[in-house]
Amino acid sequence: MADLNALTSSAYSHALEVIASVEPRIAEATRAELADQRASLKLIASENYASPAVLMTMGTWFSDKYAEGTIGHRFYAGCQNVDTVESVAAEHARELFGAPYAYVQPHSGIDANLVAYWSILAHRVESPALEKLGAKNVNELTDADWEELRAELGNQRLLGMSLDAGGHLTHGFRPNISGKMFHQQQYGTDPVTGLLDYDAVAAKAREFRPLVIVAGYSAYPRRVNFARMREIADEVDATLMVDMAHFAGLVAGKVFTGEEDPVPHAHVTTTTTHKSLRGPRGGMVLAGEEFAADIDRGCPMVLGGPLSHVMAAKAVALAEARQPSFASYARQIADNAQSLAEGFLSRGARLVTGGTDNHLVLLDVSSFGLTGRQAESALLDAGVVTNRNSVPADPNGAWYTSGVRLGTPALTTRGFGAAEFDRVAELIVEVLRATTPGTTKAGTASKASYVLADGVAERTRAAAAELLDAHPLYPGLELA
Ligand code: PLP
Repeated sequence: MADLNALTSSAYSHALEVIASVEPRIAEATRAELADQRASLKLIASENYASPAVLMTMGTWFSDKYAEGTIGHRFYAGCQNVDTVESVAAEHARELFGAPYAYVQPHSGIDANLVAYWSILAHRVESPALEKLGAKNVNELTDADWEELRAELGNQRLLGMSLDAGGHLTHGFRPNISGKMFHQQQYGTDPVTGLLDYDAVAAKAREFRPLVIVAGYSAYPRRVNFARMREIADEVDATLMVDMAHFAGLVAGKVFTGEEDPVPHAHVTTTTTHKSLRGPRGGMVLAGEEFAADIDRGCPMVLGGPLSHVMAAKAVALAEARQPSFASYARQIADNAQSLAEGFLSRGARLVTGGTDNHLVLLDVSSFGLTGRQAESALLDAGVVTNRNSVPADPNGAWYTSGVRLGTPALTTRGFGAAEFDRVAELIVEVLRATTPGTTKAGTASKASYVLADGVAERTRAAAAELLDAHPLYPGLELA
């Protein structure tokens, strides 16, 4: 077999030369980005490192092809190769997740959620109001019919997890389109344990009678019982949509099975492909066949032409995720999160919910006397890349926050194990203990500025470099 490292090194070195011949600053920035990613402890829970095969698949002429429509039914001529790409990606997605139907066109997670919402509306709004208008489904309605329908039904209702409990903007947050196209209410977590309280969600659902219940999260460090969420949805005749954007890799790798696997329990499941799933940036929708026709209307309802080069890369990433090695990777993600959590707890740090059983931990930095913003900045100075995040009922709001979210998928890809993650926790605690809040120009306490004790950033960078050098990113990839 060819030496893949040598081929990759040669391919990227030549590609950068070609790019530099047109715009050298972009070639330089591309080299610099690789160097930066190699030299920092990437703990952003939503990021990863896609394989060279996935990355290379995105840089082809499929980028040049328009293919609005669906497989075999396009609004443009000459789409036979895009049909192949989309079919292969969808087949891998169906097989990997055990879903009857997969739609691989969404350009991102937000797009996937919008497609899902519209398909649920199209599928569900088959009320007597529709019959009165002489239509079988919403796609047959004229503009005047829509007016009448809106007047009769009002907005539909959506119940999703609140942002500060770990939900996502697209789960009905007011400033997001999902909070405007639906009447929304939000469920939170238990104020004492920080855990999801299913009985409280059920009580809210009984009272609110939503059309859609959204489960899934961006910053909740625990597993969810999707069978229980489905029971709640069924009781109030709601459609259960699960957004597994963050933990799709753990579902693909069979870490989340049974009640924790959303796909058999949700009516519609959405995901991104670039977080723990380790594919290209993009989204997907999985569902039962009964939703297929409505989901297929994602373009033109919400999406433009599909990104064929990204669909091709999704196919490659999904093929990778079907390998046994991906299941080992997924297990290691979860084991590493345990080790990171224990590393914090044993050093006296406070975690939301007291720990984790997925791929992320939410560190409450108020115990260090810091805001999330101060902690995030001090850690970045020391070469540790994280993102600040609200904690439940956060007194510092969504901008400054009181938390820092840390995830294990990216460094697990580099080969970090439990011992390395314990060391990462140690380094982070050292940096935060050495950071003090700054003051504003007026002399009052600042929520943004901070002072990191002399020498700590340099010492942490050197210690991180030891870990990173032992686990190189894209080992064998040498740019000429
Ligand atoms: N859904 C969840 C749960 C997410 O965490 C995110 C991204 O952060 C998204 C959707 C949106 O994904 P994208 O940034 O690809 O639109």
